[in-house]
Formats: sequence, C-alpha cells, structure tokens
Amino acid sequence: METPALRERLAALYERERERLKERAAPDGAYLSPVFGEGPLPAKLLFIGEAPGANETAAGRPFVGKAGRQLDEMLDKSNIRRADVFITNAVKYRPTNGSRNRTPRREEVDFGMTLLAQEIALSGAKLIATLGNVPLNAVLKMHGLKPAAIGSVHGTANALGQGRILFALYHPASAIYNRALAPVLENDLKALGALYAELCR
Ligand code: URA
Repeated sequence: METPALRERLAALYERERERLKERAAPDGAYLSPVFGEGPLPAKLLFIGEAPGANETAAGRPFVGKAGRQLDEMLDKSNIRRADVFITNAVKYRPTNGSRNRTPRREEVDFGMTLLAQEIALSGAKLIATLGNVPLNAVLKMHGLKPAAIGSVHGTANALGQGRILFALYHPASAIYNRALAPVLENDLKALGALYAELCR
C-alpha cells in the first residue's frame, strides 16, 4: 500500500538534488533538467538504468519513447507489471557529447550515488535489477563490494547485504547493438521473473 510519508520524503530528496545540481557547473544546461525516479512507494522491485536520454529529458520521466518500449518488453518477458516497479537511473541528467548521448563519467556516477542510495533505502526494495554496467557498479560500490563486469554477473542473484538482492541485466539497448545478446537477455529476464515471483509476490 502506498505510504504518503515516503512520497513526501522522496519529493524532499529530489528537491534537494535539484538544488545540488544547480550548483554544479553546467556546460550544456542538462543538469537543470534532471529526470527523477517514478513508481510505487514502498516498492518490492527497483529497476536502475544508466541515465536519461533526450526523450526522458523532454518528458521529465525515466524510460519513455524507444527506451521505454524496450523496458516494457523486458518487463513483459519477466511477467512483471511496470506499475509495480520503482524505476530510476544512476545519473539523473542526460550526459551528452554535443547532441549525442554519452556514457556517464565516473565522477558523474559518484555524484549521483548519494541520492541513488537514498532511493534504494526509501523504496524498501529487496530486489534491485540493474540495467548495464553503470548502475551495476554504482550499486556494488555503495554496498562496499568489488566492481564486476556485466558479462560475468548478468542473470545471477547476488546478496548485497541489508537483506537486498542484486540481479544484473544487460541494458536493453545493448541487445539492439549486439544481436547475440538478445537470447542471453531473454533467458536472464525469465530468471528475473522467477526470482520476482518467489521474493516479491
Ligand atoms: N536509458 C536509461 O538507462 N535510462 C533511461 O531513462 C532511458 C534510457
């Protein structure tokens, strides 16, 4: 059941982050249009992407447009309803190189880690699914664990401590660029669905 006090605390955290971002030197203004998380509070499952793209920045919501359709397909394959999941990103603004998206830099991921840790704690999620290398390593780092490569940990459940389980997935876009990853991702999504049914239903 939705808890209004959690929603208020999250709104306050997002407001504070907006101020923190304003203080950061912004070469292109992207820091001024952050995209924060959305979903139920508390939540049993938390999905963490890398960073918003152009569509997300325009809409002010994570995973809309093409990336949103990819995520929705992933959730369908795991038999998970989007409305039941809290969705956020490791970095809250769009990192760009000119007009193109780029992978967030380490210091950008580190900057976002305080809020990400607060979102994880506040959501109360026991199951955390990361999409790609960036959120995987942010979550490992904040739990004091060693970095890992997505190629070796994808599709497996790993204890983070504090009663939390990490399930690492490839980023949906990676299966578009590398078709060989599509069946791997498909298998991982089935495994996530089984784990979700066991832990979260
Ligand atoms: N890719 C991400 O990782 N996050 C988004 O919100 C959109 C695309």
